[in-house]
Amino acid sequence: MRTIRRRDVLKTAAAAVAGGAAGNALLAQAQAPQRTPFTVAATFIPIAGSGEFFPVRRIYCIGRNYAAHAREMGSDPTREPPFFFQKPTDAIQIAPPGETIDHPYPTLTKNYHYEVELVAALAKGGRDIPVERALELVFGYTVGLDMTRRDLQRAMGDEKKPWEIGKSFDRSAVLGPLQPSSKVGHFAQGVIWLKVNGQTKQNANLNQMIWNVAEQVSNLSRAFELMPGDIIYSGTPENVGPVVKGDIMDAHIDGLPDLRVKVV
Ligand code: MN
Repeated sequence: MRTIRRRDVLKTAAAAVAGGAAGNALLAQAQAPQRTPFTVAATFIPIAGSGEFFPVRRIYCIGRNYAAHAREMGSDPTREPPFFFQKPTDAIQIAPPGETIDHPYPTLTKNYHYEVELVAALAKGGRDIPVERALELVFGYTVGLDMTRRDLQRAMGDEKKPWEIGKSFDRSAVLGPLQPSSKVGHFAQGVIWLKVNGQTKQNANLNQMIWNVAEQVSNLSRAFELMPGDIIYSGTPENVGPVVKGDIMDAHIDGLPDLRVKVV
């Protein structure tokens, strides 16, 4: 957690120009022009029960965080540390509770998979956050779908290439409005399920996560400086599977509003 004042940014940037080693990231901010030829939309998530919106900075996703899912993906859950990938912020598609949103079947895939996940949103940042303090960073939670072009993800994995095309495409990050942790608390346990056309496909408990949210935040903060606006998809349980056009997915976590998504 820190605040960067503009004057300090400019000072640091000047030092970088003068040959200082640090400050390259800040230089880009300091030189951001006041006028631009076009605008790029920022991404926001509605905050439930308020008129406010949560501005999104980065989307981190945890891979293979439930033992049974790690096994179904072909890895050994007892030996593997948590790993992370990102989705672009504009991949977010909001699913308001009580509504059925249309979710377009994406291009290029013939094996389009759901992954239901708990999503944590951070209002504070920092580096090297101890596990005991990690939940202080969390602003709130929601239910999310880490939608995946599984055939493309697997093909890239087989070739030892990045997963981007399988994971980081448009509307691949479906989620509901954020529920502030001041109201709903934190989520160490609770049933998590996903149904397709009323039939249960995934059904597990958050207490089966290999790394809980506090451990995820702590781990991430050793690899990246976390910042307000970062959100974390905390991994999916076993029994991921495909959907096709016309399917309706219902996603649930105890203590949070359900999502309903129609693939069109
Ligand atoms: Mn996932």
